[in-house]
This record gives sequence, C-alpha cells and structure tokens, in this order.
Amino acid sequence: MKQMEHIARLIEGSDEDLYARADDARRRHCGEAVHLRGIIEFSNVCSRNCAYCGLRRDNTSLQRYTMSEEEILMVVARAEESGVRTIVLQSGECDAEQTDRLAGLIRAVKREFDVAITLSVGVKSRRSYRVWRQAGADRYLLKHEAANPDLYAKLHPDSSLDDRLSGLAALRALGYQIGNGSIVGLPGQTMMDLSSDVLLAQQFDVDMAAFGPFVRHPNTPLARVPSGDLALSLRVVAVARLILGPVHIPASTAFDAVAPDGRQRALCSGANVIMANLTPVRYNRLYDIYPDNRAQNSVARIKEILQRIERPMARDHGHSLKGPQATEARRERQGV
Ligand code: SAH
Ligand code: SF4
Repeated sequence: MKQMEHIARLIEGSDEDLYARADDARRRHCGEAVHLRGIIEFSNVCSRNCAYCGLRRDNTSLQRYTMSEEEILMVVARAEESGVRTIVLQSGECDAEQTDRLAGLIRAVKREFDVAITLSVGVKSRRSYRVWRQAGADRYLLKHEAANPDLYAKLHPDSSLDDRLSGLAALRALGYQIGNGSIVGLPGQTMMDLSSDVLLAQQFDVDMAAFGPFVRHPNTPLARVPSGDLALSLRVVAVARLILGPVHIPASTAFDAVAPDGRQRALCSGANVIMANLTPVRYNRLYDIYPDNRAQNSVARIKEILQRIERPMARDHGHSLKGPQATEARRERQGV
C-alpha cells in the first residue's frame, strides 16, 4: 500500500525534476539509441465493444478491412529496407480462423526477413498463443488498459481483466517477451488507479510497458470525455521508467494525438521506443482507433524527430533488456 501511495504522489506531484530523472534512468538502462517499431494494422475487424475505441463492434459506420498476406509481405519488405527491425502486427479481435492464417504469415515473415515480430491482437485461446509462438513470434503486447477491476469492467462490457492478466501469464510461460500497459485519462480514473497500472507492469516483470493518453473518439460512448492530459501522461511514463528500470517504454502514438510534439516529449521523459505506421494509405484512415495523423507517421518523420532530439536510431532488433534476451540485445548494440 505504501508503495502504491508513493507512486500516486510521484505521478500527481509537480516537481519538474521528474522528467530529467526519468531521462537519466532511461540513459542508464537503455542507452541513447531509440528503437523503431514498424506497425502494420492488418485488420480493423473487431468483435469487442471497448467503450473508448473506434474499432468497437457497434461502430457500424466504419468500413472493415483485412489485408492479404501478399500485401503484408510487400510492406515488410519495404520496411526492412528502411531500417525497421521489429514488425508489430496489430488488429481488432477477430475470429478463431485467424489462428492458422496468422501463423502462416508469421512463418513467411520470419523465413524471408531479418525482423522480430510483436503481436498485438488481443485476448486469444492458449492454442493460438502456442501456435504463433511456434511459428516464430517473439513478443506479445496485451495492455491491461486499467488495473482497477471496477474501472476495467465499466469500459469493457464483453471482456474481463482476469482473462487479460491470465493471458499475459500464459504468454510469458510460452517464452514470449511480454508487454502490458494502460490508458491515461479514462473517466473516473484516480491517481491510485494510475499507480496500480505501473505496479501491475512491475508485478508481471514485463519486458515492455506502454502508457499513453486516452484520445476522444466521436463514434464511441466516450465521445464527450475530454482526451487525456499531456503532462499527466508524461508523468506516468516518467514514473514507469523510474519504477520499472530496464524495460522498453514506447512514446505511444497517442501522445501525438494530444500534442504535436507529444512523442518527442515522451522520448525525453523516459521513453526509448517509437512506432512508425506502415499500414498502406488506403487502409490507414480505416484503422480508426482514435483520431490522429496516422498517415503522416512515417519512418521519415520518425527520423526527423530523432534528429531534433539528437538521438540515434538503434540498429539491433531491440529485444528485451532483461533475462537471456538481454545478452543478445547487448551484443547487438556493441556490434559483436
Ligand atoms: N485489439 C487489440 C489490439 C488493438 S487496440 C487489443 O485490444 O489489445 C490497441 C490499443 O489501442 C489498445 O490496447 C488500447 O490501449 C489503445 N486504444 C484504443 N482506443 C484508444 C483511445 N481512444 N485512446 C487511447 N488508446 C486507445
Ligand atoms: Fe477491439 Fe482492441 Fe479496440 Fe477493444 S481496443 S474495441 S478489442 S480493437
């Protein structure tokens, strides 16, 4: 309880030093190089109804799509050429048929390209997790979204926090590098809730932790709730860095949806990872999780941001900074 209150106070406090301290901790644990992850949003079909998300099932005004394997492989080929060493495959939560199709895609990507694969496709069966791991998937991002069970239940009419947490444990047991994280600025969320979000990442000893602001979407039940506060979201990132130490923390794309220099500021407040959007333009605007400038989130734009903050782009795969993978990550960084 004491630690929970301590973290809540850090998040709520006003000391300007917090960002600089987190930036120092980031330098110590991760070095200067920023890891670029290329995200392919391969399908916006979703069977769930999360209150904050534009892909929710009840948003019937959205045209749905699923990219073909051929289209995805073409995108990966171009991404690898431009220096991307991790591909994040993300989608809404779709049918069970997805298991074998996605396994085939993972195998094809691993056969043809030298990239790590992160999956971000929501809660699935144990069998799916196993099949994808055997096919070659390296990492899995399954954000808990809200660690307070009551808050979680209010926003997720058809999924449970327990399923998400037991899913995360199962993924870890299968040898995935795992990531969780939450949304900052959800209605009714307290400082203690945010503190338990950071502590949940610590409890699961995650390899990556993603925190970003809530972004208001007009076609959702949260259409009237203002977007999350930039400073508060940055403070959560900073505190996460101080508490979690050697983990990958992204400057979530949602930061740029609440402020033009949002991600740049997150990178200077403890974050060490940034995502470029690789989804082809014709699908791009349909992956409408929340309103943002996703079409402009190219590898070239990321390179501009890094130039501005004088940080290099990492050349290695950006594996976990913990456990056996850490040795490989270190070796790759040192070029041996
Ligand atoms: N369906 C998968 C992955 C796609 S959603 C899943 O739910 O895990 C990817 C992430 O987008 C979610 O984890 C959620 O944290 C984030 N997200 C969705 N809508 C959002 C919004 N309005 N504001 C901020 N983040 C949002
Ligand atoms: Fe679907 Fe994920 Fe959006 Fe929830 S957050 S509605 S599961 S895409």
